[in-house]
Amino acid sequence: MEKRIFNFNPGPAVQPLPVLKQIQKDFINYNNTGMSIIEISHRSKDFMAILESSKKRVKRLYNLDDSWKVIFVPGGASLQFAMVPMNFLTKDKKAGYINTGTWSTKAIEEAQIQGKNIKVTASSEDKNFSYIPKNFTIQKDLAYLHITTNNTIRGTQWQNLPETEIPLAADMCSDILSRPLDIEKFGIIYAGIQKNIGPSGTALVLIKDKMLDLVPEDLPTMLSYKTYVKKDSMHNTPSTFSIYCCELVLKWIEEEIGGLENMAALNKEKADYIYNTIDESNGFYKGTAQKEDRSFMNVTFRLLNEDLENKFINLALENGLGGLKGHRIAGGVRASIYNAMPLEGIKTLCKFMEDFKNQNS
Ligand SMILES: *Cc1c(COP(=O)(O)O)cnc(C)c1O
Repeated sequence: MEKRIFNFNPGPAVQPLPVLKQIQKDFINYNNTGMSIIEISHRSKDFMAILESSKKRVKRLYNLDDSWKVIFVPGGASLQFAMVPMNFLTKDKKAGYINTGTWSTKAIEEAQIQGKNIKVTASSEDKNFSYIPKNFTIQKDLAYLHITTNNTIRGTQWQNLPETEIPLAADMCSDILSRPLDIEKFGIIYAGIQKNIGPSGTALVLIKDKMLDLVPEDLPTMLSYKTYVKKDSMHNTPSTFSIYCCELVLKWIEEEIGGLENMAALNKEKADYIYNTIDESNGFYKGTAQKEDRSFMNVTFRLLNEDLENKFINLALENGLGGLKGHRIAGGVRASIYNAMPLEGIKTLCKFMEDFKNQNS
């Protein structure tokens, strides 16, 4: 095997190595079927077992009872931006959106395109999305309040959910399955799976059954959540390979990590390690997110100037640390340290940061 790097890409992103090895092993001949995992029928006993197991694992990990449905929807998170208002905002229904960055803004735009009745409840745009809004007033009678739990580009994360009885609709792309949740606060959770759970192109959606009562009957079949629930995500041919990969990652979280409490503790340890390196650098590295809102998944920081940032990013890659360039609209450096990034990768990055600081200050 060629040498692998520590992959800090924002998404598609690092996956657990044992999972990649298992995929390689299964690829030509899955479970003695004599066929590849991508060649077997989605209606076959083997694939149905994978789908069933992955749904059960999600339910066990988040302690979901039978009022929750677990579905897989093609089109990633971006299609969910459109489907959430399409399914839940009929006639007189309205929703609130909290704008904490690029992805929230896109979610808002997709509701507006459809002429839906939505309000921006709070926003952190005034300070470059460097914080999570607090102490805002939530409108009454909302069908849902939309939040982006982790802001992949700006490096902020909701550490305390908004205080409200209104069901939360959450874009959880970049921190799904990274920590336990107070699940009763949510009406729907969606995530493109390419950050914490597998390959790109599919969304994992958790939906509370009372939300399904809001879904109108006149939606195109593939755009209605009811279809995915009724047909068990198999109205058409789902991305069998993606779901199979998810199953393996979910198994890794359950059996190797030991569940979401452990996952969260590991993620906190990793994030603390980098933030300490930043905070103890005497200003050589500057975190861009307000401290109490810092993300445990995407660590964003700046150096003195862009030249130094580029030098840092290029030299890091030469040292086996990839994907550290910040998003083009934010600039700077971003280390995406999702579930599958091992502590060893973090320690290697922090050692590199120390050395780079000593050589350049
Ligand atoms: C990556 C990401 C998206 C976009 O996901 P797609 O699957 O590419 O549509 C949306 N929201 C957040 C928070 C993300 O991190």
